Amino acid sequence: MEAIRNIYAQMGISDVVYQYGEEIVNHLQERFAAIDQTAEYNQLKVLKAMQDNQVSEACLLGTTGYGYNDLGRDTLEKVYADIFHTEDALVRPQITCGTHALALALMSNLRPGDELLSPVGKPYDTLEEVIGIRRSKGSLAEYGVTYRQVDLLEDGGFDWEGIRAALNEKTRLVTIQRSKGYQTRPTLSVARIGELIAFIKKIKPDAICMVDNCYGEFVELSEPSDVGADMVVGSLIKNPGGGLAPIGGYIAGKAECVENAAYRLTSPGLGKEVGASLGILTQFYQGLFLSPTVTAGALKGAIFAANVYENLGYPVVPNGTESRHDIIQAVTFGSPEGVIAFCEGIQAAAPVDSHVTPEPWEMPGYDAKVIMAAGAFVSGSSIELSADGPIKPPYAVYFQGGLTWQHARFGILKSLQSLLDKKVILADDVEKAKEKLRKSAK
Ligand SMILES: *Cc1c(COP(=O)(O)O)cnc(C)c1O
Repeated sequence: MEAIRNIYAQMGISDVVYQYGEEIVNHLQERFAAIDQTAEYNQLKVLKAMQDNQVSEACLLGTTGYGYNDLGRDTLEKVYADIFHTEDALVRPQITCGTHALALALMSNLRPGDELLSPVGKPYDTLEEVIGIRRSKGSLAEYGVTYRQVDLLEDGGFDWEGIRAALNEKTRLVTIQRSKGYQTRPTLSVARIGELIAFIKKIKPDAICMVDNCYGEFVELSEPSDVGADMVVGSLIKNPGGGLAPIGGYIAGKAECVENAAYRLTSPGLGKEVGASLGILTQFYQGLFLSPTVTAGALKGAIFAANVYENLGYPVVPNGTESRHDIIQAVTFGSPEGVIAFCEGIQAAAPVDSHVTPEPWEMPGYDAKVIMAAGAFVSGSSIELSADGPIKPPYAVYFQGGLTWQHARFGILKSLQSLLDKKVILADDVEKAKEKLRKSAK
C-alpha cells in the first residue's frame, strides 16, 4: 500500500529494505496464520479464567498496608492457577523479577541436605549465584543444598542415562529451563518437557519438577504445568505481563509448593495473606489479558528476523523454518560492527529513547562488553522490542519482543537499514536475496 510505503520512507527505510521485508512476509503467511490460531486459543483460555473467577471492577482497586483480604490479588492468583491448570499460584509485585521468582521457588522448597538437579545443562546466568555455582552470599550452597547438573547431548537431546545416574536419595527438586536463554542449545517444547518429567517421576516420584517458564508463556497451546510440572515460574515483565505489568513475578503449581514460596516471600505463618497490591492490579489483569496477542506479535517478529537474516546468509537460532517454543531469536553477525549496527537499528526503532545511541559497556557479571538496545516503556522489559549482544566471538545478537507485530517488523527493518547504512551489508546483496526468494515462490 502506497501510504505504508511512504511512511516507512519517512522513517528512514529505503526501498530495497522495504521490498525485501515484503517478500519475506509473503513467505510467512502460513506460519503467521498458525500463530494467530494459538493466540486465539490462548486469548479465550485467559478470558475464560477471568470469567470463571468472576473478575469484577472491585478486583481492580487494590489494597494498602498489610493487604489482608485483597480481593483483586487473591482473584488474580486464582486466574493464574486456572490458566496454568495448577492448584494455586503466587502472583505478586513484591516478586521483583524473574530471577527473584526462581530463587524464591527454589529456596522455599529446598532444605539443608537436599540436592537440586538440572538435567538440561547450565541454567540461566543469574541463577548461578542463586544456586552457588558462582559463590554468592545467601546462595543455596551456603545453606547446605548441593547441586548436580547433567548436560544436554551434543545434538540437544536429553542424556537419559546421565539423568538416571544423577537422581539419588537426596534429589529433592529438578529445575528445567524451557527457553535456551542466551545459549545456543535448542529451546524445549512443552512436549519434550513432558517426556523429561515423566522419565524423572518414574525413577523418583517425589522429586519436585520446576520449570523456568521465562519467555515461553502462551507460545504454545499448553504449558509445562499441563505435562506434569509441579511448579512453573516466570517474570511479569516478559510474556505474561503483556507489556503493561511494570514489575512482578509468578509461581503457579502444587498448593504445597506455592504455600512454601508464600511463606518464604512474606513470613512463616503469614504467607499469602499479606502483601498489599497497591494500585497495580489493573495493569496485571490487563497485561495478562493482552499477553496472548502480544506474545504472538513478538513471535512473528522473531520468525521475521530469522528469515530476514538467514536469507542474507547469517546463521540464526532457531532457523527460519523450525517450530518455536519461546520468543528469543539469535543472529550471528561474526563481527563487532554487525552487532553494534543491529542494536543501533533496534534502538532507533523504539518508542522511547529512539534518539539515543547505545554503546558497548562493561556489564557486571559478564566477561566482555555488552551492547543493549532497549527503548522500553517499562525499564528492562524484554517483552518490548529489545536486543543485546556481547562484543565477543561469535558476535551474536539476541533479539526479542515487540508489543505489536507491526513494531517488531519495523524494528527488524530498521536494524537491516542500519547494517546497510554502516556498509556491513550491501544493498546489492539484499536485492539479490529478494530476487532469489521471489523466484523460489514461483
Ligand atoms: C529472563 C530470564 C530469567 C531471569 O529473569 P530476570 O527477570 O531477568 O531476573 C531466568 N531464566 C530465563 C530463561 C530468562 O529468560
